[in-house]
Amino acid sequence: MMRKAIISQNKGNILIVDDVAANLRLLAELLTKHGYKTRGVTSGQAALKAIQAQPPDLVLLDINMPHMSGYEVCQVLKSNPETSPIAVIFISALDEVVDKVKAFDVGGSDYITKPFEVGEILVRIDNQLGLQRAKAEIRQLNAQLEARVRDRTAQLEATNQKLQQEISERQKAQDRLTHLAFHCVLTGLPNRAWFMQHLENALQTVQKNPQLRFAVLFLDCDRFKIVNDSLGHLVGDRLLVDVAQRLKYSLHPVETFARLGGDEFIVLLEDVDTIQQAIQAAETIQNALSKPFQINDQEIYLNASIGIVLASNKYQKPEHILRDVDTAMYRAKELGKGCYQVFDSNMHHKAMARLQLESDLRRAISSQEFYVCYQPIVNLNNYDLFGFETLVRWQHSQKGTISPSQFIPVAEDTGLILPIGLWVLREACQQLKNWQQQFSTANLCISVNLSVKQFSQVDLLERIDQILHSIGLHGSSLKLEITESALMENLTTVQQILTQFKERQILLGIDDFGTGYSSLSYLNRFPVDTLKIDRSFVSQMCQSQENLEIVQAIIALAHSLGMVAVAEGIETPEQLQQLQALGCDFGQGYYFAKPLLPEKATQFIINNVQLTINNV
Ligand code: C2E
Ligand code: MG
Ligand code: MG
Repeated sequence: MMRKAIISQNKGNILIVDDVAANLRLLAELLTKHGYKTRGVTSGQAALKAIQAQPPDLVLLDINMPHMSGYEVCQVLKSNPETSPIAVIFISALDEVVDKVKAFDVGGSDYITKPFEVGEILVRIDNQLGLQRAKAEIRQLNAQLEARVRDRTAQLEATNQKLQQEISERQKAQDRLTHLAFHCVLTGLPNRAWFMQHLENALQTVQKNPQLRFAVLFLDCDRFKIVNDSLGHLVGDRLLVDVAQRLKYSLHPVETFARLGGDEFIVLLEDVDTIQQAIQAAETIQNALSKPFQINDQEIYLNASIGIVLASNKYQKPEHILRDVDTAMYRAKELGKGCYQVFDSNMHHKAMARLQLESDLRRAISSQEFYVCYQPIVNLNNYDLFGFETLVRWQHSQKGTISPSQFIPVAEDTGLILPIGLWVLREACQQLKNWQQQFSTANLCISVNLSVKQFSQVDLLERIDQILHSIGLHGSSLKLEITESALMENLTTVQQILTQFKERQILLGIDDFGTGYSSLSYLNRFPVDTLKIDRSFVSQMCQSQENLEIVQAIIALAHSLGMVAVAEGIETPEQLQQLQALGCDFGQGYYFAKPLLPEKATQFIINNVQLTINNV
């Protein structure tokens, strides 16, 4: 049983090569007994064949054999990578001289001598096989290791590839964000942030090279709001895209330009020596924009106001250039639409003064620096006092009295006209109430100027109602004066508001008539009571035939529309006579009285009442 167990265990396959058959038998028996599987051959050639057919774990190889020595066999084995790992133990007779160096040189692992010492054979064979197994294990481990390294490398490569992909996707997203941060979505043009960077660079260049100049053009489309309001924002957007296109074609490709927002564009002209070059660019742009735009079968005409700055190293910050070019653009707008203006330092001073006026105006409201005067309005047929026009004044703490023509436009731009306007209205209504109580016989009317901005005040009617109600004044004693532009700019709401004025019997007059451009069809449609002829026509009517005809036409127009005509700015008896001859109904002006402080106005009523009584 025990023996069977040893045999079946097979401790290793051994090929025994010896030309002496007795040796072969002896060794085979010995090794088989100790659990090895053996084969035996008696020549070198047979050994090589047997190994080829089935490689053993170990070869016991006799050195001295006819035809082919053990050394030669071993050399052949070791030269072939498939057979080279097989361990070779040489066998030699005791009387033979073993060339140990040669034995190891040709690749032998060990040698044993005949006659055989059983224990030695087994130990040497065991050692070699153990060594073989260890080597095989190492080879296997190495192979496993290599496979793992290969796997890991492949994994790493895949991860790396994924990472690269992610990085490139992130880069793309980042690029998209950067593009968005520096470009306008609608026109695709660079935006303010982008432009400011370029302006900064241009400024740095001229600071390093003080002989250089560059120019900045600031462009604002005129009356763009009308396009948006009348044709809708989509058409407005299309128009902006077309404007951007025309700008592009009218500029040199290297010139940078951007959309600042809304209908504002800005251009940077580098390497400009003279202001003439910048002016030429502005003219080219205006020329390009002057041709009609075609959007949805609609022909749209558009102008642009352009401010120009020629910048040198005197500028410290890009913001200052932007400020000045903006000022120049506003100046261009003031001069009429479709103009350009080159910035000069006077403009800056004016802008600063205006800024000061704005902040003074804010303070003036809280510190109650306003007061009102009343200018009498007289019936030109019988000199009866019809009423007064309320005119606001500003008593500035340092600058003295400031005329409304100076501060009303600022108040309108800043929105401060709303509180100021309501205050004037309340004062006027209260004053009239006082007069009504004082002079019950006089049937007076108070006129109050209403700014175009007040027309868009959402709670205007509510506030007027409040004032009338709290003072206890009837709407028919109040006349509101608005300009033609107030009517034309708010066409959508104006009809509604005017109708509501009528419901309250509030009278409505158009001020400065003849200076704006109202359409006759609107005049006819709106419930207007009075046309007030502008002072410029009245003051020149005796000198200029043309003005006389205009005055005549306005009076005729008023009468044909069922309105009354009021002339303002009557200063001389000649003017008065002319107006009377033309059938003008009412008049006001220095000839009768300047705008009066309340006490003086009261005195005026007293005198007028007495005059009437005397006349009776
Ligand atoms: P307006 O409503 O056309 O007022 C008439 C202007 O002509 C007043 O100027 C008045 O003083 C002036 N004036 C009247 N008669 C004569 C005259 O015979 N000769 C000359 N040379 N001038 C005469 P003022 O008070 O300087 O007001 C100017 C403008 O300011 C007003 O023109 C009006 O548009 C505006 N304004 C005045 N007060 C108010 C107000 O309370 N609210 C609003 N929104 N605007 C006001
Ligand atoms: Mg007026
Ligand atoms: Mg007027």
